[in-house]
Amino acid sequence: MQCQTVLPGAECTFWSKKGCIFEGNSCQLVIDKCQGCERVVEGSIGQVCSVAPSPEQKWKSGLCNFATHQKIEIKSVDAKVNPLKASKKAAGGKKK
Ligand code: SF4
Repeated sequence: MQCQTVLPGAECTFWSKKGCIFEGNSCQLVIDKCQGCERVVEGSIGQVCSVAPSPEQKWKSGLCNFATHQKIEIKSVDAKVNPLKASKKAAGGKKK
């Protein structure tokens, strides 16, 4: 249903016929770590997150998984030689 308080008109899974059913009956403000994230929007109570009602909780166990400004560095395996390609290459080399 559409929020009618913090982000009026925005579709939200926490809005019910009884109003906002999230903790404290409202979204919570973004935290410092959210600064720079594209999901920060201006709500009626200040800056809130457009996808997570509680930014603080999103950062509790490390990096927020919805953050657009920070990403977990995933070490690329591309740098390593693909063992399958390497063995094919080696096999091909032997034929010559
Ligand atoms: S997606 Fe995460 S980092 Fe971005 S505003 Fe929401 S809670 Fe903050």
